[in-house]
Amino acid sequence: MRQDIQPAFHQATVTCNCGNTFTVGSTKSEIHVEICSKCHPFYTGTQKATAARGRIDKFNKKYGIDNK
Ligand SMILES: [Zn+2]
Repeated sequence: MRQDIQPAFHQATVTCNCGNTFTVGSTKSEIHVEICSKCHPFYTGTQKATAARGRIDKFNKKYGIDNK
């Protein structure tokens, strides 16, 4: 690998809007993101899972399904 044509590669500090910071290999030294693996609902799952559970319970109750 020719070093003179490669951009400088180092550990970048990624700062998320939620306050979470983590490091990642990048050519930039600092990165700001709006969403990360710590605050994205897909990874946290808490909010959506609770909402979905409420709907499932409502459905089961409506049709008399007991899934205990
Ligand atoms: Zn975040």
